[in-house]
Amino acid sequence: MDRVVQRVRERLAQARKVLVISGAGISAESGVPTFRGAGGVWNNKDLMRLASPEGFAEDPARAWTWYDGRRRQLAGCVPNPAHRALVDLERCVPDFLIATQNVDQLHEAAGSRAIEHVHGSIWNVRCTAARCPRSRGETYYPAVPLPEIPPRCACGALLRPAVVWFGEILPAEPLERIDRFIRSGAVDSVLAVGTMAVFPYIVAWALLAQRLGACLVEINPEPTDLSHAADIRLIGKAGDLLPQVVGSAADPR
Ligand code: NAD
Ligand code: ZN
Repeated sequence: MDRVVQRVRERLAQARKVLVISGAGISAESGVPTFRGAGGVWNNKDLMRLASPEGFAEDPARAWTWYDGRRRQLAGCVPNPAHRALVDLERCVPDFLIATQNVDQLHEAAGSRAIEHVHGSIWNVRCTAARCPRSRGETYYPAVPLPEIPPRCACGALLRPAVVWFGEILPAEPLERIDRFIRSGAVDSVLAVGTMAVFPYIVAWALLAQRLGACLVEINPEPTDLSHAADIRLIGKAGDLLPQVVGSAADPR
């Protein structure tokens, strides 16, 4: 085993508190396209428009047709060894949290429990009418394909995907819980996995935990906005590297 991988593995074996920051790259090996980079979904300007409050208001059916297609695609995806390794890690580390930017819920599907969704979930919906109680909470809505496009709430108003669109404010509660996790007792290690770290809050969490004593480990085949700050860079695929650093039972090495 690689010496650096071994070092991270030893560190994690002793860890009392671990924060994982995951991005689209952790789901790449499940067949979920990443958002940026080669073949990235958001390289297309029309799609950036579509995933915005203005784009939705302009043409809800167009937006929902796209989300229906994405939900169909995700319905055929299953967790990969990277997701599963994090389930094993959560079992061994007393204080553990995954802060994910992914909307696919593959961490849950694998069996992870302590997860904060920074950008919502594609499987949840919210009512768009402010007067409706279903506009305040999220409802699990797994129907694939959608029974109607655009789907409507029982109150008659349009439903929208419970994901954070471009130009929207992040959900406050997950952010508070992530911040509290980082500040309430030193994190041993932060694993930044499969994220380009283009959002300032992602970088801020990683650096704050590092300043408070955490070892910042990046797992990614490519350099990112966080690479220069990482204490350890593991260059490669999450599905190969995470089982190795966790020492998962599933790891054949
Ligand atoms: P991104 O698409 O911007 O970056 C993906 C990163 O993953 C890149 O750095 C790439 O090098 C890396 N990567 C690719 N294959 C990998 C692998 N096998 N192992 C490890 N790393 C790999 O993703 P991001 O940083 O998460 O961007 C954030 C935005 O993407 C968010 O808005 C998020 O909600 C959204 N998103 C979610 C999903 C999903 O739910 N699966 C998919 C695409 C994008
Ligand atoms: Zn409603």
